[in-house]
Amino acid sequence: MRILLLGAPASGKGTQAARIAERFGIPAISTGDIFRTNIRNGTALGMKAKSFMDRGELVPDGLVIDIALDRLGGEDCAKGFILDGFPRTPEQANALDEHLAEKGAALDGALLIDTPESELISRITGRRTCEKCGAGYHVANIPPAREGICDVCGGGLSQRDDDSAETAMKRIGVYNSQTAPLIEHYRARGALLRVDGAKSPDRVFADILEALAR
Ligand code: AMP
Repeated sequence: MRILLLGAPASGKGTQAARIAERFGIPAISTGDIFRTNIRNGTALGMKAKSFMDRGELVPDGLVIDIALDRLGGEDCAKGFILDGFPRTPEQANALDEHLAEKGAALDGALLIDTPESELISRITGRRTCEKCGAGYHVANIPPAREGICDVCGGGLSQRDDDSAETAMKRIGVYNSQTAPLIEHYRARGALLRVDGAKSPDRVFADILEALAR
């Protein structure tokens, strides 16, 4: 099963990637997570990526493509993978197409989680993440039992640096101008699947399973 997720920031890609990964026993690969891990570890890559991320801009293709394709070459990706947040530009999509063609591997689907723009800002600014285990919450929609504390591991919850209202607006604009054209890229290849991202996470997941079965 080789799938990629398309969708605006906070459309639910991370949540659904985790569920799909668990259901199909394949790794969820998030380039955003790879960058955040590098930032936490103070690597040169992390330092370079951080300046772009903090401004709500895309990290340049030259830095992203090698990292993503290298990760896809991992042994655990042999049976499949779910990509969350890659590709985000036509150049990245072309690089992925070439990588898969070289391996003789086809994509099973590009899943668009189509979410109305009016929903995205409140989802982004309310988003909280566990600093220890990475579990996701939302102050209104998915609150933890105890404010600021992770239900899963007891770790502290924090807001991502790029989840302020101002940066959120910028990231949505960047999605519309640079990533949304990929919808056509995958539609033209007959690989596009669409689900309604305004529904609850459970409903969206059910719709995804149905779309993949078709
Ligand atoms: P995400 O966690 O997917 O929302 O990504 C957070 C940030 O990481 C984005 O706003 C970009 O700055 C950067 N990023 C993640 N994936 C990519 C990518 N495929 N191309 C360029 N920048 C990326």
